[in-house]
Amino acid sequence: MIEIQLSERQEKIIDIVRANQPITSEEIAKQLNFTRATIRPDLAILTMSGILDARPKVGYFYSGKEALSFFSEQIKNMTVSDIKSVPIVVDEQTTVYDAIVTLFLEDVGSIYVTSDGILTGVVSRKDFLKNAIGGMNLNNIPVGVIMTRMPNIITILPGENVLNAAIKIIEHQVDSLPVVEEVEKNNKSGYKVIGKVSKTNIVRIFVDLYNNS
Ligand code: ADP
Repeated sequence: MIEIQLSERQEKIIDIVRANQPITSEEIAKQLNFTRATIRPDLAILTMSGILDARPKVGYFYSGKEALSFFSEQIKNMTVSDIKSVPIVVDEQTTVYDAIVTLFLEDVGSIYVTSDGILTGVVSRKDFLKNAIGGMNLNNIPVGVIMTRMPNIITILPGENVLNAAIKIIEHQVDSLPVVEEVEKNNKSGYKVIGKVSKTNIVRIFVDLYNNS
C-alpha cells in the first residue's frame, strides 16, 4: 500500500468534511479562513488518494479510506508477543487418554508436546479422533506416537508481525502456531514454547481494532 503523509491542513480538511459532508470547497475554505485557491492542491491530493470523494455540484464526501489505513497501520505495528496466549503443553510420555482430558479441562483445540522442555510436536482434536475411532488403547499409548512431529511443525517467533501469523495459519491450514524461542540444550538447538497464536487470537484483533477505530 502506498503511504501518504498528510499535512496538518489536510487532516483538518478531512475532519471538516467528515463532520459536514457533503460540503463545497468554498465552505471548507471559509471554515479554515483560507481562500479556495489555497486549499485547491490539498483537495486534489485528498481526492486523488481516495480519502475524499468529489461529486460535481454536490461537494466533498469522506470515503472512509482513512479507517482502512488505520486498520493496516495498527496491524503493521502489532507483533505476535502482543497477542499471544498461554500455551497448553504436555510431555511426549503423557498418555493419549490424559492428553484428551487436558484438552477438555483446558478448553483448547490443540496441545503442544515437548520432551525435556523442547518442542517435539503438536496434537489436535482430529489426531485424537482419528486414533480413537481406530480403536487405539488410549491408556497405553503416549501422545508422542500420534502427534504431528518436528520438523513438520509450523512455528512463529514472538517478534514477528501478526499478519505473518495469520498468513501461516491460512497457508498451512492449521488452527494455531506455537510461539517459540530458540534455545541450546546439550549442544543441540531446539525450540522452547513460550506462547500460542490461534485463529481466536487473530479474530480478537479484528474485533478490537473495529471497537477502537
Ligand atoms: P483440528 O484437528 O481441530 O482440525 P488443526 O487444523 O490445527 O486442528 O490440525 C490439523 C492437523 O494439523 C493435525 O494433524 C495437527 O496435528 C496438525 N497441526 C496443528 N497445528 C500445527 C502446526 N502449527 N504445525 C504443523 N502441524 C500442525
